[in-house]
Amino acid sequence: MTLERRAAPSSDARHLLPRPRSRMNAPGFLERGARMSSYVIDQPKVAAIPVAGGGLFPVRRIFCVGRNYAEHTREMGGDPDREEPFFFTKPSDAVLTGGADMPYPPKTADLHHEMELVVAIGKGGKDIAEADALSHVFGYAAGFDMTRRDLQGAAKKAGKPWDMGKGFDSSAPIGELVPAAKAGHPDKGLIELKVNGAVRQSSDLAKMIWNVPETISYLSGFVTLAPGDLIMTGTPEGVAAVVKGDLLEGVIAGVGSVRAKIV
Ligand code: MN
Repeated sequence: MTLERRAAPSSDARHLLPRPRSRMNAPGFLERGARMSSYVIDQPKVAAIPVAGGGLFPVRRIFCVGRNYAEHTREMGGDPDREEPFFFTKPSDAVLTGGADMPYPPKTADLHHEMELVVAIGKGGKDIAEADALSHVFGYAAGFDMTRRDLQGAAKKAGKPWDMGKGFDSSAPIGELVPAAKAGHPDKGLIELKVNGAVRQSSDLAKMIWNVPETISYLSGFVTLAPGDLIMTGTPEGVAAVVKGDLLEGVIAGVGSVRAKIV
């Protein structure tokens, strides 16, 4: 007996009935009557970063470079002369914009700041040549790669992924994006972070081990970059813990600033 020949079920029991067996139930097939555009839940909101001068930059993915300044590599126990930079990611909705307060995240007792130059990709591509790399950049921003250092440390020790140490809610406070058309492509200049007015991190963009064109070129060999992707380019030395009530203020010469109060 097929379902079609059964009497119509009474209203509340309908969802308990076995579904008709047909090709339409195979993965990839839409239910009869469904339209291609009918998502079964609301579409996720697109995270976005305000752009200096107006507009919003929609965020697709966030790639982060590990150990891209020699002194920070040393303070994390690495050897900048032998270790190649590597990548990890944060979810797009980890961005926190507009100088909003950052809630102290759960499951950590060692939340660290990492002050970084953020590159916003405006034009996608794969196997991008270093010489072409900057033409793929929409603009730049100052940002924090906030890190649950205790979770990251435990993961490292166990040879497990870093995701829960790096990719948690609100883990990427980012300031206003400045278009490269306006600011150019900064490759040197102060990158500095103050906590409660005292300088905690201070370096120069010129000290990055892999500069922006090299990073874009290398990363685009692993994944096809797309408009909306962000690259957090690594932090200089001086990373340390913050606590509730701390005010973080970062600045990058020629780019802009970023602020977050930990609450
Ligand atoms: Mn970082």
